[in-house]
Order: sequence, then C-alpha cells, then structure tokens
Amino acid sequence: VEEVVEEEEEKETAAAAAAPVAAKHEKDYYPYILIGAGTASFAAMEAIREKDPSAAILIIGNEDIGPYMRPPLSKEMWFNKEDETTKNLSFKDWQGKERNIVLHGKETIQSIDQEALNKIESAESGVKLLTGATVEDLNITEQSLTLNNGKVLKYGKVLLATGGIPKTLPVLKGAGEGKVTTFRSVEDFKKLHSLVKSADKKIVIVGGGFLGSELAVAVSHFGKEKNVKVTQIFPEDGNMGLVFPSYLSKWTTSQVEQEGVSVKPNSRIASSKAVGEQVELTLESGEKVLADHVVVAVGIEANVELAKKAGLELDEHRGGVVVNAELQARRNVYCAGDMTSFHDVTLGRRRVEHYDNAILGGRVAGQNMASDTLHKPYKHQSMFWSDLGPHIGYEAVGILDSKLSTVSIWTKKPTVAAADAAAATEEGTKEESAAADKKDEGKRERATATPLPAEAVKVEDKEKYNKGLVLYLKDKKIVGLLMWNNFGKVEDARKILGQVYDTEKVEALVKPFGIHEE
Ligand code: FAD
Ligand code: NAD
Ligand code: NAD
Repeated sequence: VEEVVEEEEEKETAAAAAAPVAAKHEKDYYPYILIGAGTASFAAMEAIREKDPSAAILIIGNEDIGPYMRPPLSKEMWFNKEDETTKNLSFKDWQGKERNIVLHGKETIQSIDQEALNKIESAESGVKLLTGATVEDLNITEQSLTLNNGKVLKYGKVLLATGGIPKTLPVLKGAGEGKVTTFRSVEDFKKLHSLVKSADKKIVIVGGGFLGSELAVAVSHFGKEKNVKVTQIFPEDGNMGLVFPSYLSKWTTSQVEQEGVSVKPNSRIASSKAVGEQVELTLESGEKVLADHVVVAVGIEANVELAKKAGLELDEHRGGVVVNAELQARRNVYCAGDMTSFHDVTLGRRRVEHYDNAILGGRVAGQNMASDTLHKPYKHQSMFWSDLGPHIGYEAVGILDSKLSTVSIWTKKPTVAAADAAAATEEGTKEESAAADKKDEGKRERATATPLPAEAVKVEDKEKYNKGLVLYLKDKKIVGLLMWNNFGKVEDARKILGQVYDTEKVEALVKPFGIHEE
C-alpha cells in the first residue's frame, strides 16, 4: 500500500512541477484565472495588471453581467427619481453624482462567450470575461479547472472569489411558487423593483440584519406613493440586533418604523402557506401576516462548493475557505471576499462579508498572485457603512458584535452611555463591563455613564443619537469602532483598532472623532 501511495505522491509532485511550465503557450492555458465575476475578482484583476501589465487574465462568472457593486441594490437604486436611471443600472451617490453599478476601472474588459473562448489559440495580454459559466471542478495538482460544459482550462495562478449564497428558511418552503425569494443579484433587484411598482403590494422582509434593514427602509420609501406596505420580521429585539448594542438597536428600530415599516421584532415564523395569490405567515405568537411577496434576508453561507470538492481546508466555525494572512489556500491558489476565512494579524482569524473587504482583500490576493516574492499580508482594515433612513448613517471598522462589551460616546449628555454587554462574553461578564463603566463615571466630568434604557428612547427625540462613537471591546482590547453619523474618520479608527482600552485615556482616544464639536 505504501508503495502505491508513494507512487501517487510522486505523480502529483511531478504534475505540479510540470503543469505551469508545460502549459505556457498551450491552448486553454491562462496564467491567471479568477473564479467568480464579483467585487473581489475585479479588485484582484486590477492589482495583477498593475504589477504585471502584460498579464493575460480570464475572469469566469456565472451571472449574466460582469463585476458590479451590490451595495446600491439595497440602498441608492431605490431612491432614483427617474425610471431611466434605474433601467440603466445607475444611481445617485451620496454626493449626488450619477454612477453605474457596473465596476469600471482603467482596464478594458473584453466579454467573451464559450464559442469565442474555444477559438482562443493562446492567451494574450489583456482581461477577458466569460459570463454565464460555472466552474464545476478544480484540480489543484494539475492546475486545471472544468467548466459546466465540460471544457477544461489550465491556470498558472487561480483566485477563488465565489462570494456567498443567501440562506433560506425551511418554514417558508412551499409557500407559493416564486412568492418567496432571496436577494443578492441585479436579477433579484429587477424582480422586486418591478413588483413594488404595482399599487397596494404587501411585502414581508424576513431578517433584521444589514440587508433586511436596508431593504425594508428602501422598499418602504420607494413604495410610499403606491401604498406599498412593508413588514419586517426577525427574532432579535431590534434592527441590527446582532451588531449594535441593545439600546442603539432599539433606537434604530424606531427610525426604521418612522420610514413606514411595520417592524415585528422578537418574532419567528411558525408556518406558512399559499392563500390564493398571497402567502400567509403564522408567527409563533399566533399572529398571521399576509404578503404578496416575501423576501428572505437571513444571512449568507460562504460559497465553498467548488473549494470543498477541490479538497481545500474549510473553516467549520466561521464558514469559508481557510487561507493564511497572504490569502493563499494552497500553492498557486488564492481566495478573497465573502468566502474567505483569513488570518487577520491584528484581530485574529475572521471572515468578513462586506464590500470593502472584497476590494482590499482582492487587491492583496492579486498582488501576491502577480509576484513570487512579495508575500504581502492582508493587514489593511476594511470598513463598511450603511444608511437607514434620513437620521442614520454609519461607518465602521473591525468586529461589531452585540455580544461584546461596548462603550458609547454621544454628542449630547449623557456623554458616555454605559457598556451594553447583553450577554456574558469570554473575557468578562455583564457585571464586569458594567463595573468598568462605573469607573468611567467618577473619572470624567462629562461622563455620566448612564445606560440609556431602550424605553427611554423616544422617536421624537431625534437628537439623542445624533453623532457618536461606539467602541467594541474584547479581552480589554478595542476590536471594533462604529462611527455614527460621523463620516471621514475611518483612518483614525484604524489607528485605534487593536489597542488596549484604558478608561483613563478615553478622552484623548476619542478626540479625533470630534464628538463634542458641533
Ligand atoms: P460576490 O460579489 O458575491 O461575487 C461572487 C461571484 O461569483 C458571483 O457573481 C457568483 O455568482 C459567482 N460564482 C460563484 N461560484 C461560481 C462558480 N463556481 N463559477 C463561476 N462563478 C461563480 N457590503 C458592504 O460593505 N456595504 C454594503 O452596503 C453592502 N450592501 C450590500 C447589499 C446587497 C443587496 C448585498 C447582496 C450585499 C451587500 N454587501 C455590502 C456585501 C457585499 O456586496 C459583498 O461583501 C461583496 O459583494 C463580496 O464580494 P465577493 O467578490 O466576495 O462576492
Ligand atoms: P446578516 O448576517 O446581516 O443578518 C442575518 C439576519 O438574519 C439576522 O439579523 C436575523 O435577524 C436574521 N435571521 C437569522 N435567522 C432567522 C430566522 N430563523 N428567522 C428570521 N430571521 C432570521 O445577513 P443579511 O442581512 O441577510 O445580509 C446578507 C449579506 O449581505 C451579508 O453578508 C451582509 O453582510 C451583506 N450586506 C451588507 C450590507 C452593509 O454592509 N451595509 C448591506 C446589505 C447586505
Ligand atoms: P465606491 O465607489 O467604492 O462605492 C460605490 C457604491 O458602493 C455606493 O453605493 C456605496 O454606497 C457603496 N459602497 C462602497 N464602499 C462601501 C462600503 N465599504 N460599505 C458600504 N457600501 C459601500 O465609493 P463611494 O461612492 O465613494 O461611497 C462610499 C463612501 O462614501 C464610503 O466611504 C462612505 O462612508 C462615504 N459616505 C459618506 C457620506 C457623508 O455624508 N459624508 C454619506 C454616505 C457615504
């Protein structure tokens, strides 16, 4: 048996050594293949071409269009004034500038179909994009991959950037053909958008996270004139309940409600059925909710189907493919974006599901792919941001998890709202974090350290959470910063990330954020 194993190993080693060299000018060989035509691949492509300007790159994606920004699909696209703008997949950014969601950079991307791909004799410098094609197999030893039509391509370096797949809820199965959908792509946007153009539609959005909350606000705003009613259902106490401290989550809910959304927190769906053209949801409380359409926004799973088949190491805990700090999974195999569990040298192993992480990670992966000597770690901290109605906009870096202890600093008194550790965390209990906040109280003049009870948050009190900063703590270190209605401070936040939290120095620490300057 041992001999056979050894023989196999030898074969594998020989194949690995020979494959890229032998294949160089061969038909169907590309020095760089990027799997998944999303944000991370786009960023990697640009980085590769910067380092290796004559690189021949093939991007393979299974959607109909090339890389585009998903963020506007749950925000700006719903606020367009002209139908034409939406039709062109354009939107107005926060500065009022019209932009298109399709990603454009310096590089010319040549779209090709399978037929054109078959005609290529030898890969030439430039970027080619094959859409509507799925990579079904990846052979790491032979440095090759197989498309859904059976075609085999060889690569020098490959990037896996396959993103995420929206989760569904079993309880919604069979509730009506096409009446329950997830939301991730341009296609999903187009369908929902055209649906809520008709009057009097009842839309239910399940999920209280990033997507559910943004979409609830956006669809409600868009459908106001047409009497479209949006109901949002989720198990947490408030919108963004897994991310924001409890008092802020409740305040956020009040703001989402102000946008016309009927929010049902602490709610789970017990059963569902089709009733005529509608879907009837029964909540665990017994309450029934009727909908013309249900959008499920209950998170994503890292899309590791291909990686799993290829035998790459998976992160059982966080999901995603395990890579090192250089975003390498195996020799000549790199990963970036939503499907990547990477080692963050400051904050430890993480998987991040945000746009900027796909851009920054994609860049680093691309740079490392284009150089055999660079070995660059992915150290730059990505950020994310969101808007939820006219009174909430935020930017953030690091880990934002409502289970962690938090310290909040707000413009108005009480300046330091106490930590809100809803649950005991590894590094301490609720009592400990509350004690830490008590210590603050005596130390600084402005700090009243009063936890703001959620009941005290009144909708009309718009000033309450006007501008602020929330620090997320773990093992006494600052692991996350949420900048509330306070833009342009991401660089300052990056400097603080990973520092030990010291109540004595908090005033100096937060100075750059200008919380008390109005
Ligand atoms: P993706 O953009 O998902 O790209 C992966 C691509 O690979 C997909 O097109 C997929 O179809 C394709 N693919 C998968 N498997 C294969 C295969 N085997 N063969 C060929 N192709 C394949 N983040 C923020 O930070 N801020 C926001 O405001 C924000 N808003 C969002 C709004 C919406 C509606 C959504 C859905 C997401 C939002 N995000 C936001 C998250 C952000 O868009 C993602 O983090 C980002 O798109 C991840 O990029 P990616 O390249 O890893 O994956
Ligand atoms: P999420 O992980 O942010 O939220 C998941 C939500 O699902 C939870 O908050 C919870 O309310 C809900 N949920 C879980 N199980 C449920 C159940 N059994 N019943 C009802 N609700 C349940 O994921 P998302 O909001 O679906 O977003 C999808 C992806 O898009 C994520 O990767 C997200 O990061 C990304 N996104 C990011 C932004 C942004 O950064 N501004 C905006 C939109 C989307
Ligand atoms: P961009 O060209 O990279 O992005 C274009 C689109 O992607 C926009 O829809 C934007 O909303 C979205 N986007 C980009 N990066 C994102 C991220 N990390 N999280 C969530 N969505 C993201 O960048 P842009 O158009 O210059 O806009 C993004 C920047 O604008 C962010 O830094 C944001 O904080 C900032 N912003 C500032 C204000 C303000 O009042 N000063 C308001 C909103 C947004």
